[in-house]
Amino acid sequence: MKLLIIGGVAGGASAAAKARRMDEKAEIIIFERGEYISFANCGLPYHVGEVISSRDSLLVMTPEGFNARTNIEVRTRQEVTAIDPEKKAIRVKNLLTGEHYEESYDKLIMSPGSTPFVPPLPGADDPDVMVLWTMKDMDRIKARIDHGIQSAVVIGGGFIGIEVAENLQQRGVETTIVELLPQILPPLDPEMTTPLNEELADHGINLILNHSVKSIQRHGEQLTVHLNDGKMIQADLVIMSVGVRPNSSLAAAAGLEINERNGIVTDSTMRTSNANIFAVGDAVEVTDPILGGKTMIPLAGPANRQGRIAAINALGGHEKYNGTIGTSICKVCSISAASTGLNEKQLKAANVNYKKLYINPSSHAGYYPGAEMIHLKVLFDVKGKILGAQAIGRDGVDKRIDVLATAIKNAISIQELQELELAYAPPYGSAKDPVNFVGFVGTNILDGLTDQVYADNLPQDAFLLDVRQPEEIELTPLKGFTNIPLGELRHALDRLPKDKLIVTTCKVGIRGYLAERILKENGFKAANLSGGYMTWKLFNPKPLKAPKPLIPASEAASHPQLLSEEVIELNVCGMQCPGPIVSVKQRLEKMEDGQLLKIVATDRGFKKDLPSWCESTGNQMVSIEEKDGKIEAVIAKSKRGIKTVTTGNGIHKRTSIVLFSNDLDKALAGFIMATGFASLGHDVSIFCTFWGLNVLRKDTPPPVQKDLISKMFGWMMPRGPRKLALSKMHMMGMGTKMMKNVMKSKNVDDLPTLIKQAQMMGVKLLACEMAMNMMGIQMVELIDGVEPAGVANFAALSEKSDTTLFV
Ligand code: FAD
Repeated sequence: MKLLIIGGVAGGASAAAKARRMDEKAEIIIFERGEYISFANCGLPYHVGEVISSRDSLLVMTPEGFNARTNIEVRTRQEVTAIDPEKKAIRVKNLLTGEHYEESYDKLIMSPGSTPFVPPLPGADDPDVMVLWTMKDMDRIKARIDHGIQSAVVIGGGFIGIEVAENLQQRGVETTIVELLPQILPPLDPEMTTPLNEELADHGINLILNHSVKSIQRHGEQLTVHLNDGKMIQADLVIMSVGVRPNSSLAAAAGLEINERNGIVTDSTMRTSNANIFAVGDAVEVTDPILGGKTMIPLAGPANRQGRIAAINALGGHEKYNGTIGTSICKVCSISAASTGLNEKQLKAANVNYKKLYINPSSHAGYYPGAEMIHLKVLFDVKGKILGAQAIGRDGVDKRIDVLATAIKNAISIQELQELELAYAPPYGSAKDPVNFVGFVGTNILDGLTDQVYADNLPQDAFLLDVRQPEEIELTPLKGFTNIPLGELRHALDRLPKDKLIVTTCKVGIRGYLAERILKENGFKAANLSGGYMTWKLFNPKPLKAPKPLIPASEAASHPQLLSEEVIELNVCGMQCPGPIVSVKQRLEKMEDGQLLKIVATDRGFKKDLPSWCESTGNQMVSIEEKDGKIEAVIAKSKRGIKTVTTGNGIHKRTSIVLFSNDLDKALAGFIMATGFASLGHDVSIFCTFWGLNVLRKDTPPPVQKDLISKMFGWMMPRGPRKLALSKMHMMGMGTKMMKNVMKSKNVDDLPTLIKQAQMMGVKLLACEMAMNMMGIQMVELIDGVEPAGVANFAALSEKSDTTLFV
């Protein structure tokens, strides 16, 4: 048996290696026109960004190594120029010598891949307009960046375009993506890309949707990219990433059957229209197992699996390829975007009758640190056959999409997802995994237990009911919805119309469903807004604002004093607001003017808080970026310092807080605000009066003489910050305990720590003398550092304050 293979990367190398394992004696030769075989093309963007630092690690196998391991002859720089199916021979051009020769075969496997499409635009042939497809392309792009470019335009927002853009930005190149469609990543539906657009903007990557490039013009050292509406973008480098075309001309010239998209037609054994020739990978047409038609999906996984199957069958075996459903995943900065099967756009185009659901579960148990929301969309038919799924989130996305892909490929219905037994422990998932939830919701829809409505198509004339708590609504209001919290709904039914459809909603759709059930059981017509507020937000994105780099790379280079000085490091990972800012302030106080502080944090809010804090304190933001889920920032202590914030006439800003309450939540709020203002350099005083005095009581005070009434007050009131209870949901201590556990798990400082921090930051704690007299509390019973104060003292302080708060 003599087996020839055209193409030595994904499909070709897999086919060759499998063939050798099947037949030790066969003569196997790979022809590869490039310099390398079996290189990791999927890793190319990450070497551009220096995430993968070693170029050599992309060369999974050298021709010599492959030969030593498999006894397969590898001929690189050899291009197959023709196939003669009659003669069972190929013609080859040696690209090193220019010589042509012929090689006969018993069986031939083609894995010629695809070529990036470069539209015939004026200027597209400029040497600074590049594609990323081969090692050579990568070396050229990298060399250009190393040479010191400032800006780049990536044309095309598919997965390679996005990966390239992220990695360019990572190298300090200001990057703009121009995409013809109204969305990036076409395998997703548009609403699912909302968080991705925001993520790109947050990372300083400009995104221009709905625009095409008309031409590219060179002006000296720079290129100008002209868009269809007349807009222009200046750039040092342009990367074209607008899709690929199958390399099928060799097959077509040999008379093999080719489809209307220029794909090589194959059967389920990967055999072409010629019995002795097999074809695999990006260049071939395969079956779409969901709708039963034909499709072309250029991905590495299918190419590798098809290569194995073609090898088995070329050597006389009988192995079937079951088609490609198109399971893919893409890293968009710190978000993963994944999809499998068909999307809604494809189902609509194919006129398929489908149903859909959105859920927004946590990646793992909410009480275990690091849980992140996953936006999940699943499409299915009226019998429960799963047609497609999309998942977006910062954690646990790959696992869910892979389970759903397995379900689609193996005809597991949406109802059967309820029963899937999936690995669970708090750091990894939930006892009811998001995939089980897809099963519950899908089954409820099919059983008629819930009717879903969608945020892009809210029924006209419906009564819109939001069953979240008022505090939630204050933060994220939904226009047009009436609020009745779920807990109060059963007692408020008389406020609801019987003659209208009531659309229920909540944060993620669960309470909305419970409300829908309550209403339906009471004779109302109701439907639930699929995915609740979190999915509504996907359909109603905020306008994007791309933050500018804080110090452009050009200026940073001319700031030698910023770059050369010793950098002091501060790790505040695990701390939550205001912990990181408080630590930054404390550290800066011990530093000299102009010194640099590098901070690593995990609190996502820190990325927005730190620049505003620097702005108001006069310190200088040097850089801030997200890396591997952590926020890394560098700030320079400015001459203006942070000790004080002064008004225009040089007087320090002051904040006064009256703490009247001994509820745990209110005291926490008071001290968080106090430390927050203090970290901005304000002089802060907290005046504790009446019940607020209990916050300052010692756990174990020394014995003091008291009359009966004072003793009674002392027994009945909470003694110190550890004994305080929540103002709401105390639930005989359970709620307060839960809140303390949640704070601990999320690394939020407890009240005693906050009080200590406040004192360390110079916050003045004042105890109201009049209230102390009334309640029989003496100074020795209060924590150290508290000063007695009369109302007059406080009034004087408050008069000089810019902000006075009552808690
Ligand atoms: P290829 O792997 O491209 O191999 C074809 C080879 O055939 C080429 O080396 C070519 O030189 C050679 N050849 C062609 N014609 C001839 C000829 N006449 N004579 C001799 N040799 C010839 N897919 C994923 O699933 N996930 C990813 O994350 C991912 N990321 C990617 C990132 C980048 C930057 C790129 C470029 C691709 C990525 N892909 C990814 C796609 C994936 O790499 C391809 O789908 C896969 O490599 C296709 O395999 P193939 O064997 O068909 O073609």
